[in-house]
Amino acid sequence: MPSWKADVVVIGAGVSGLTTGVLLAENGLRVLVRTNKPPLRTTSAAAGAMWDPTLAEHAAVGEWGIRTLRVLSGLVRERVGVRAVEGVEVFTTDHDFPGWDKAPSGARKCTPSEIPPGYAAGWSYTTPIVDMPRYLRYLQNRLIRGGGRLRIGGKLRVGTAFKIAPIVVNCAGTGAARFVGDDSVRPVRGQLVVVRNPGITKFFTAASFDSSMMTYMLPQGDDILVLGGSMDEGFPRSWPDKRRVAAGIIDRCAAVDRRVRHAQVLSQRVGLRPQRPQVRLEAELWAPGCLLVHNYGHGGSGVSLSWGCAEAVAALVLGSSETSAACHI
Ligand SMILES: Cc1cc2nc3c(=O)[nH]c(=O)nc-3n(C[C@H](O)[C@H](O)[C@H](O)COP(=O)(O)OP(=O)(O)OC[C@H]3O[C@@H](n4cnc5c(N)ncnc54)[C@H](O)[C@@H]3O)c2cc1C
Repeated sequence: MPSWKADVVVIGAGVSGLTTGVLLAENGLRVLVRTNKPPLRTTSAAAGAMWDPTLAEHAAVGEWGIRTLRVLSGLVRERVGVRAVEGVEVFTTDHDFPGWDKAPSGARKCTPSEIPPGYAAGWSYTTPIVDMPRYLRYLQNRLIRGGGRLRIGGKLRVGTAFKIAPIVVNCAGTGAARFVGDDSVRPVRGQLVVVRNPGITKFFTAASFDSSMMTYMLPQGDDILVLGGSMDEGFPRSWPDKRRVAAGIIDRCAAVDRRVRHAQVLSQRVGLRPQRPQVRLEAELWAPGCLLVHNYGHGGSGVSLSWGCAEAVAALVLGSSETSAACHI
């Protein structure tokens, strides 16, 4: 039997790496996803995760976000961990709906009775909310079904990755700082409290870059409610701060809905958002015949941009001369 040789190696098995791997494999490439952490131990597994493309910077964020919204909305009926949930997003000042106004379905301005004390305005809409552990398992299985492979091992360097395949896709999240020596990627710590759902069916989110204000509640079906959030730079610890951070999250959410106050805490999640002045999505010729494609730096919106960015990477890879020279498609 001929030995299997990868056309492309994708670094990273978070939502960016797995989605990119799936799309490349489904386009006929032999894809190896290499990661030093299993999918369920990545930042992606810690995410809330609601479709909201506003916490990352790039001129194409709107386009990538809408493409992702379409794919996630289509996955709702597949029962792979994506749900369409109605809810409200509130603001401390009057606020137009962000540029993607026609994207999430049913967007309308909130009535005063829908806005809790302390907020001035709000919008009601329906958006995908993703149960990340379940969804990452789905992506992993879909990668394998598409002929791709996943290998968990040590951290790779760029040079080592090119010994595996002539095309390397960098989906290393915060790991890109070491992988390609990019000092502009910063880990921004986020923490969530997962509680037994006391009966909340709508999402609530109060957007804020101030960690002491960030408040959201994301129902994951009847059983689970995810409470957030936090955003701490320069504190890259990956274990939960149960007193200060978790207590603050519960207090803020309980101020919006009292039922949260005594909800049973099931677990706490921590992840390091790969913050960057802007998402890096581009191709570079690392050496003759060696194509390096970057897809990292999605900050707090990596889930919301995942399919749009994966499609952009697939276009770069499939259109490259390295692909036509090295691959059998
Ligand atoms: C608390 C919290 C809530 C969030 N909520 C949302 C939300 O509601 N909506 C949303 O869209 N986004 C949300 N995010 C942001 C989102 O989680 C991230 O943007 C996204 O997970 C980034 O995915 P990634 O695949 O790029 O990186 P990661 O998930 O960090 O994956 C990186 C991968 O690269 C691997 N790796 C790194 N370096 C190497 C190396 N040298 N060799 C081999 N492997 C390597 C790692 O092991 C890992 O597999 C949230 C984040 C947090 C922390």
